[in-house]
Amino acid sequence: MDSSKDGKAEMLFLPWILARGHMIPVIDTARVFAAHGAKVTIITTPGYAQLFQKSIERDQSLLGHDISFHTFKLPTAEVGLPEGCENLLSTALDRDMSEKLFAAISKLEKPIEQLLRERRPDCLVSDMFYPWTADVCAQLGIPRILFHVTGLFPLCCEESVRRYAPHEKVNYDTETFALPGLPDDNIKFSKLKLPYWFKTKGTGWRQLLDIFLEAELKSYGIIINSFYDLEPTYAEHYKNEMGRKLWLVGPVYLFNKAAEEKADRGEKNSIDGGTVLSWLDTKKPNSVIYVSFGSQVRMAPKQFLEIAHGLEASGCPFIWVARDLSKSNEEDKEKREGGEGENGDKMLPDGFEERMTKSGHGLIVRSWAPQLLILEHVAVGGFMTHCGWNSTIEGIGAGIPMITWPLAAEQFFIESLVTDVLKTGIRVENEEWVSLHWEPKVTVTREKVEKAVKWLIGGDGGDQVVEMRRRAREMAEKAKKAMDYGGSSDAAVIALINELKSRQSNRTRSESAVSVCNLSSVIPD
Ligand code: UDP
Repeated sequence: MDSSKDGKAEMLFLPWILARGHMIPVIDTARVFAAHGAKVTIITTPGYAQLFQKSIERDQSLLGHDISFHTFKLPTAEVGLPEGCENLLSTALDRDMSEKLFAAISKLEKPIEQLLRERRPDCLVSDMFYPWTADVCAQLGIPRILFHVTGLFPLCCEESVRRYAPHEKVNYDTETFALPGLPDDNIKFSKLKLPYWFKTKGTGWRQLLDIFLEAELKSYGIIINSFYDLEPTYAEHYKNEMGRKLWLVGPVYLFNKAAEEKADRGEKNSIDGGTVLSWLDTKKPNSVIYVSFGSQVRMAPKQFLEIAHGLEASGCPFIWVARDLSKSNEEDKEKREGGEGENGDKMLPDGFEERMTKSGHGLIVRSWAPQLLILEHVAVGGFMTHCGWNSTIEGIGAGIPMITWPLAAEQFFIESLVTDVLKTGIRVENEEWVSLHWEPKVTVTREKVEKAVKWLIGGDGGDQVVEMRRRAREMAEKAKKAMDYGGSSDAAVIALINELKSRQSNRTRSESAVSVCNLSSVIPD
């Protein structure tokens, strides 16, 4: 046995580096495994390591966990990009830049393979964006464990669409159809809400997703940032119907206990935690709506205007993370600060920000908010979210009902989990899926924003909201239990570590058996 491991399971984590939504949960998961006694290494770039350095140092020095980064510099200059640009929040939105970054990342394949050869870890936990790790791991006899950055419900929905293609049997884009073969038979969709890759074959994303799926099928198993009680029938469906080995280990964000860990996650906050909390302290319980669309959203300037009008008309206090990533150069930055969009379009109503600030009615965050701190404050009574998996699981863990506003990726499926299955949210009624790379348009009017906020926060929902809050709190309790000592997620982490260790000792036994065999074959009788 390798003495540097001290009998520990050695796990290498390889998160995708172009999206905070992929990086954040993998870092938290790696920390959870280290807390359970694994020897953990996170492979990333120096810039990303810097963003998470504080938490890792805290784990090492205060808690004595065996966790560290192994960094590779991204050869951005070789693809004609400036150094460190992979850290920008807007990279995924700029097609040219993201293509070049993909090319730079592919140049890390050989060095990562070399690292695997040298370290021979007990497993590699890989993001789906590195499908090549499936073959490399197979060659080296290292179990590849896929980290899916979404839940089981959306994964099962995707499989249903892939297997049964129900959208091919409808006549028009808004016609609804049920997703067949799922544990719930009330999951309804329309063509308009489906990602475009289900409607095209063999090109672009569809091709890439097929490659990811092939690699998933070659993997040893899958880690999911979810917990059993959240989606039990889908966990069984995924295991039994789809034949995958699963470990549900979340919600991993709950591993962050200290206020500074909750405040400092993956990006510099553009407003400090103390300021936000003091503002929230002045508000009544459940009176504030928190509005945020994740780390990569792209919205039309006029959509901002609709949100602003809707929030103001609702009369409910709000915190709004109003980042506009579609404009990242300095000239546009000036316009944004003046409240204008790319083409001089108004993004905020006249005097809006001043009115909201003076009256204490609204807090506008320009770039990055300490989301975990906000969600767990007692004054926050609702979360208007784009239904990214991380935001959703964070909202669930905080016990907060949601107003769902899905935009891209698998977010419409997640909306359905929240509204149709868990019944802890209402739809703002966005009906149309858009790619992050398409020209954004206005799809939700100010009236819809106002109506949803008044329903959830302003009292219009009456007893239905009381019941929704009760359900959301109950699920939050289950989330905490899952992560606590003896809970289902805690047990899943321990089970995987034990499995890796027993594979390790089996390997050691068979290796020594081989050497005995070899010896006996050369020693004459
Ligand atoms: N996040 C944050 N502050 C922000 C925006 C996002 O802390 O202002 C975090 C959020 O808590 C979540 C992640 O960034 O952990 C976003 O992931 P999600 O899956 O919700 O959406 P994505 O950004 O991938 O679309």
